[in-house]
Amino acid sequence: MKVGIVGAGMVGSAAGYALALRGGASHVVLVDRSAALAAAQAEDIAHAVPFAHPCRVEAGDYAALEGAGLVILAAGVAQKPGESRLSLLSRNAEVFAQVIEGVQKAAPDAMLLVASNPVDVMTEIALRASGLPAARVIGSGTILDTARFRSLIAGHLGIAPQSVHAYVLGEHGDSEVLAWASARAGSEPVARFAAQVGAALTDEVRARIDEGVRRAAYRIIEGKGATWYGIGAGLARIVQAVRDDQRAVLSVSIVTPGVEGVSDVALSLPRVVGRDGVVATLMPELAADEAAALKRSAELLKETASQLV
Ligand code: ADP
Repeated sequence: MKVGIVGAGMVGSAAGYALALRGGASHVVLVDRSAALAAAQAEDIAHAVPFAHPCRVEAGDYAALEGAGLVILAAGVAQKPGESRLSLLSRNAEVFAQVIEGVQKAAPDAMLLVASNPVDVMTEIALRASGLPAARVIGSGTILDTARFRSLIAGHLGIAPQSVHAYVLGEHGDSEVLAWASARAGSEPVARFAAQVGAALTDEVRARIDEGVRRAAYRIIEGKGATWYGIGAGLARIVQAVRDDQRAVLSVSIVTPGVEGVSDVALSLPRVVGRDGVVATLMPELAADEAAALKRSAELLKETASQLV
């Protein structure tokens, strides 16, 4: 599958690199407002290809996206000193309007995979701007938070993260919800598994894991200014689910008709992802406090998105 990436900054280029290393695409085209940056990133990534999987990597303008099955949207502008979140959002909404127009001229049927933050609201903006069905405008959402959650639970239990099934729901951000009540290790509820291996999930352990997931981005930003490798790999994972029609269950964001009484809001839930985008959505079993937190998260996102209209 040919994959376009608009925005060849840290996140866009990390996604291109992860796609090349994983063999997630046959052809990757990088587009950026700065043609020189896109060209440099494409050349750098192309030099990794001889050590990885066959993949054509190049830079181009929007016309070069023709034939792309999926386009990753990683373009955005940085926050100016003192700028409010809402003003930043409005500027990024303008960027997306331009970008999506360019993408759709060349590749009207391409699925859109939104990476720019705040990803849930940007997913809703992309849906509105594109006119595509909601199932084909996917935000990376909590794919990475879910990966962090699984890996911290797995570390505590001394098992592989692949054997942990647990999701982070709602906003990709401060109001996200770690769904403990439905978390499983093997086929067992995590608490039962933990008791059997003598690694009890005490309140203290849960709080440590919660903090580890919720504060991860802040810690990384403090150390290196931004995050890109993890999300780059997460984006490549979503692309592979689409390309191979895997019907993998991934926590990604799309505009959802109703969540905890909140209508038409983009947020993450476990969703079945394949060739046609999101083909089904799961509502995990939630504890009362988790359901309340998911409702708050949905309300918050709805409120932010409505301010943009
Ligand atoms: P991140 O860390 O999210 O990747 P960056 O600032 O590194 O952030 O990357 C964002 C990229 O988006 C930049 O390379 C910038 O040139 C690009 N960009 C911004 N506006 C547009 C636009 N209208 N069209 C294409 N690319 C854009």
